[in-house]
Amino acid sequence: MDFWGDEQFSFFENILFSVLGQSVDVIEAQFLSGGDINTAAQVFSSAGVFFIKWNHVDNSAVGSPSMFESEAWGLDLLRPTGAFQIPQVIGHGHYQGKCYLILEYIDFGKPAKTYWETLGQKLTILHSHTQPQFGLHFDNYIGSLHQNNKLTDNGFDFFFDHRLLPQAGLAFYKGLLSKQAYDALFRLRERLPDLIPDERPALLHGDLWSGNVLINEEGSPALIDPAVYYGFREAELAFTKLFAGFDERFYDAYDEAFPLQSGFNERVSIYNLYPLLVHLNLFGSGYVSAVERILKQF
Ligand code: ADP
Repeated sequence: MDFWGDEQFSFFENILFSVLGQSVDVIEAQFLSGGDINTAAQVFSSAGVFFIKWNHVDNSAVGSPSMFESEAWGLDLLRPTGAFQIPQVIGHGHYQGKCYLILEYIDFGKPAKTYWETLGQKLTILHSHTQPQFGLHFDNYIGSLHQNNKLTDNGFDFFFDHRLLPQAGLAFYKGLLSKQAYDALFRLRERLPDLIPDERPALLHGDLWSGNVLINEEGSPALIDPAVYYGFREAELAFTKLFAGFDERFYDAYDEAFPLQSGFNERVSIYNLYPLLVHLNLFGSGYVSAVERILKQF
């Protein structure tokens, strides 16, 4: 109680009342670190234990769902695939100038012996869900940045027009990316069909770094914080390699269950241009040399 104060507790109680339709007493709350953008807590209440995150700003892109709305929709899209445990969405909304998202709290456990193999196999189940077009029927956010999911027939067009180009344009506008690099990106566009395989649009988590994979009480992986869309499955695997944290057993199990076309490791950096440009825009010039190196290479 001391850490949060009465006001914070009544915030929790009021938003729980709005989504559950019953009055709730909050007993205790633990601050949860790890998120980049929002404040999060584990909240113990008379109605159960919840994960709640909230923010003062709602920087939704015009005409798009809000950040928490699109996160809730993304979780609801991943859950029915049955691949992973995905927290239930309890509710989301606005209250007293803050937006919030309330989810089922996932209790942590120790990884099972075959944790990495399970993660690889489960990801192939997720990626085997396809639809005819790349993109998604709603936009969402990557970090705090708008992610345009305009439905597109051609995967190379989608990857370039709705992933690389908006981020490169923003970085150029902010003075973080040189004109030379920006132009090089257009030359890369021409080569994409020769460099990466044209696969069917696969359902992706979209922000699969190790911090977004929780280990549940059964010792199995549970996924949080998605930026879902239908895209090239190799882009998802490439992203897991950007900051490491995924064991080789994960890649082997994935490849065994749903083999990748040969030469994947040589393509990783092409896909990772997207998250690197996102990081450049979010966190600044520290990422510029990595972007320029990849553009030079290709
Ligand atoms: P942000 O949107 O700011 O990135 P996250 O969704 O990553 O915030 O949540 C912050 C931290 O809270 C995560 O690092 C994770 O450890 C924990 N967390 C997130 N969702 C849950 C959940 N449903 N159950 C338990 N812990 C969670």
